[in-house]
Amino acid sequence: MSESSLPERIAKHRAVAAWLEFQLGQERATIRRLEKEAVELERGKTVAWRERRFTVQEPRHDAEPYVIHRGGCTKSPAARDYVQAPEVVIMMRGKSVEGCRTCNPMPGLRGTWTPRLDPDE
Ligand SMILES: [Zn+2]
Repeated sequence: MSESSLPERIAKHRAVAAWLEFQLGQERATIRRLEKEAVELERGKTVAWRERRFTVQEPRHDAEPYVIHRGGCTKSPAARDYVQAPEVVIMMRGKSVEGCRTCNPMPGLRGTWTPRLDPDE
């Protein structure tokens, strides 16, 4: 094996450095892509959790009904409490209720099983 000249050795090390910089760029791009995927996955879990629940909009006046929304409905003002179907049915028992016309939650509540609260009912 012949000894490389100094300019040849410098050129080889420059080539290695360029390749390492390229690899580093590839790795950083992969990390960014995976981090974005992780954020999307978390956001998707939150959305799915909300979508499986309902919110109840209180009436502004006694004569108005409560309005039930699906958890992901944008028409629900300042929704804070996301409740599952059996809880909604129990909460709204005996109250005047209507379903939001935008998100149509009632089919999701129909057939909801709830435990009897009063055995004499
Ligand atoms: Zn709604």
